Amino acid sequence: MKLILLGPPGAGKGTQAERLEKHHKLVQLSTGVMLRAERAAGTELGKAADKVMAAGQLVSDEIVIGMIAKRIEEPDCKAGFVLDGFPRTVNQATALDEMLAEKGTKIDGVIEFVVDEAALVERISGRFECAKCKAGYHDKFKQPKKPGVCDVCGSTEFTRRKDDNAETVKARLKAYREQTAPILPYYKAKGLLYPVDGMAAPDQVTKEIAGVLSRIKP
Ligand code: AMP
Repeated sequence: MKLILLGPPGAGKGTQAERLEKHHKLVQLSTGVMLRAERAAGTELGKAADKVMAAGQLVSDEIVIGMIAKRIEEPDCKAGFVLDGFPRTVNQATALDEMLAEKGTKIDGVIEFVVDEAALVERISGRFECAKCKAGYHDKFKQPKKPGVCDVCGSTEFTRRKDDNAETVKARLKAYREQTAPILPYYKAKGLLYPVDGMAAPDQVTKEIAGVLSRIKP
């Protein structure tokens, strides 16, 4: 099965993509994670993307389309994948359709995370993760059980994304409204759009997605 998770930053796409990978054996393809890895490795691509990401704007279509085109050629993607953070423009969506058509395949469903934008700034600005195992936490909604110690691996080091501050979050939401939201009618017209309540608790969203999956025929 080939899925897209679509929704603004902080809607919970990453959390659900991880669960889909774990429980449904779909490879998680997150362009944000790939770009941060390039940046951390100090590659030319990472350097080019750094300023744009820090400003909360979108990296060029050319860069992200190239990254995804290369990644979906790898054997682990054959059985299915879940795209998280891609496509983010209509141009990226049409390029994706073309690259899949060339391989004789297509997207089976697009899960839209419906959210209250006003709540997202608080949701995103407070999030942090374990530096070692990447378990996710939040200042207000999910502190580690023992302060300063990761519940999962016991590490005492945590990191925050550079672009998870209130000012950049507002720019990222603007980019979503103006450049990404226009993709919704594109997939709706194809009968592929499945809305879920992104404001519900994560386990509830996972249940809603499981309901959607049972309706999708790959
Ligand atoms: P994310 O982790 O999905 O929130 O992405 C973090 C940042 O990476 C975004 O704010 C963009 O600057 C960049 N980015 C990630 N995916 C894309 C994409 N598909 N198109 C353009 N820029 C992207």
